[in-house]
Amino acid sequence: MTKGKQWILALTLMMALALSGAAQTSDQSREAARRSTYQLAHDLLKQLIEINTTDSVGNVSTASEAMAKRLREAGFPATDIVVDGPNARKKNVVVRYHGTGKRKPILFIGHLDVVEALREDWTTDPFQLVEKDGYFYDRGTEDMKEGDAMLVANFIRLKKEGFVPDRDLILALTADEEGGSSNGVDWLLREHRDWVDAEYCINLDAGEFEKEKGKRLLAGIQASEKVYVDFQFESLNPGGHSSVPTPDNAIYHLAGALARLQSFSFPVRVNEITRNFFERNAALASGQVSADMQAVAKDPPDPAAIERLSASPYYNSLLHTTCVATMLSGGHAPNALPQTARANVNCRIFPGDAPEDVRKALEQVANDPKVKVTAVTQRSTDGKVSPIVTVPPSPLLPEVTQAMERTLAVAWPGVPLIASMSTGATDGHYTRIAGIPTYGISCMFFELNDSRAHGKDERIGIQDFYDGVDFNYLLLKGLSTPR
Ligand SMILES: [Zn+2]
Repeated sequence: MTKGKQWILALTLMMALALSGAAQTSDQSREAARRSTYQLAHDLLKQLIEINTTDSVGNVSTASEAMAKRLREAGFPATDIVVDGPNARKKNVVVRYHGTGKRKPILFIGHLDVVEALREDWTTDPFQLVEKDGYFYDRGTEDMKEGDAMLVANFIRLKKEGFVPDRDLILALTADEEGGSSNGVDWLLREHRDWVDAEYCINLDAGEFEKEKGKRLLAGIQASEKVYVDFQFESLNPGGHSSVPTPDNAIYHLAGALARLQSFSFPVRVNEITRNFFERNAALASGQVSADMQAVAKDPPDPAAIERLSASPYYNSLLHTTCVATMLSGGHAPNALPQTARANVNCRIFPGDAPEDVRKALEQVANDPKVKVTAVTQRSTDGKVSPIVTVPPSPLLPEVTQAMERTLAVAWPGVPLIASMSTGATDGHYTRIAGIPTYGISCMFFELNDSRAHGKDERIGIQDFYDGVDFNYLLLKGLSTPR
């Protein structure tokens, strides 16, 4: 070996050592950053849980102010953070993480309010974070202060790392998703569209990642949701003395119409999202159910398979518009013929079906000129009558599904991504109606048969939460890194 060659070898060795040292330090610092983000996410979750944000006695503004303060302290300019809303108790927080502006912004949403919880119904205090047997217990752990904490923690982590996204990342944590008259997403879109306008929206309140007895099954991406509409069935009658009854009776007219509704089923609907759902779920199911899912995903879907799957209330709801009687009233005295009889019929309309067509179908089903079917007026947060509009499904953008697939491959290789349609309604319907495609992505796993959202002793797995923090971090970067 010549002197020159020896020197080159020595230099190469030194460089290799230096590089591996650097790699070690960057591994170590990445691990340290992860650990400190876990701590931060934990602290944020605890802080949010301990601020009561119920509609009755809680205060969403306090939670919004607390998150704004955290973000300011972490280096977000005060000018990029707003706390505002239609009233003092229901303010939302919106923060903008500036990127290079190469692509249009992404909006991330989560709600800060929670469903009521009574201390006497619970095993633990629902407004004190309790860690027990590997779970975080408390109102909002599952729905959805965990998602809020995750997003704030990762916005802060990315900021500290000096990450520059290729687009603005907007975070809006909002009021009154669970009820109340000051829905934050609705208010922001109507009053300050420019604060939240985006190419698309990611909603952490939907698109659950499911596990069963600890086994990770699938990662959901909610791209569609059914449309909520109430209809009133009403029968009016002159009434009279009940000692001289006639067959023409408001309660009988209504009861007959409802009995006919009971055995009625709306026509089958399958769209891009539900077809994808059945196709991919077929691979996870077995036997007849798997075969039926495949047959339903075909065009046209197989009628016998539809009938078998529709026996399950969940699949039935995915395959049809559904309408069901939910409330009943009538009569004014035990000894008088009823002058009124009314029922509320709650419909969850398949995206694309026109609400007026559903009303006409209900009228036909009622099949009685003495039963009037009308849509119940819906009001927006400012008290104005809001027209009933259909919620368009969001097209599965390759940009989003590919970022999800890539992140899943790193975090949980082998876990399939499955598009879904919510049978219930989420805040995503406001953004979808506003023309912003919306994807529900919960980012963390929930035990399939242990959902306690809205119920007693609500909880999430502690490790699932921290794994979700990691996943959310990778997804945020994946969606906003130039490729
Ligand atoms: Zn929720």
